[in-house]
Amino acid sequence: MHTVKLVGTEASFDVGKIVCLARNYVDHIRELGNEAPDKPILFLKPGSCLVEDGEKVVVPAYSQLCHHEVELAILIGEAGKDIPEGEAMTHVAGYGIGLDMTLRDVQNELKSKGLPWEMAKAFDTSCPLSQFVPTSRIPDPHNLDISLKVNGEVRQAANTSMMMRSIPAIIHAVSEIFTLEPGDVILTGTPAGVGAVESGDLMRAEIEGIGILEVGVA
Ligand code: MG
Repeated sequence: MHTVKLVGTEASFDVGKIVCLARNYVDHIRELGNEAPDKPILFLKPGSCLVEDGEKVVVPAYSQLCHHEVELAILIGEAGKDIPEGEAMTHVAGYGIGLDMTLRDVQNELKSKGLPWEMAKAFDTSCPLSQFVPTSRIPDPHNLDISLKVNGEVRQAANTSMMMRSIPAIIHAVSEIFTLEPGDVILTGTPAGVGAVESGDLMRAEIEGIGILEVGVA
């Protein structure tokens, strides 16, 4: 069981399911040549994906192309099903930084065959996750600079205001399919600039008001 802390409080959460949203920033949809979805595209990562700050991502031998995707992470604090948008924010305990590590070569092959994405998205170490900051410290989660550097070079730099779906809309949509429980985490999609990492690289992800997540590549 992987536990995350709410910084500055006594609260901690055992991480449950990790629900990930695909294609939530227009510029990223364009860079991969995808279509903007009518409905949210969701997938799951299991707890065995998790990596903490200071640890390393291990790229499986069956891939030659592992991409970084920096994403705003939502920590659920209160359970709910079919949560109305107007009540969604009361279910959030805090915000963090997640990396949706993606084996792009494997994903492209799976996509072309119409097969599920788990081998590309849910492998061990595919989800580095920071500690979380309570919602009270983030007055507007829809206006946060979000960035990722690899070995000091800026690869992704955007703002959460560029998300197509708002946090309440995401929570509403996710909770129509999955009952949300305390400790569940939602990754809200990545902005443009995704790219490859290699053995020895150091990724440094940052979200304004939340902090920094530093993870190496084994
Ligand atoms: Mg992603």
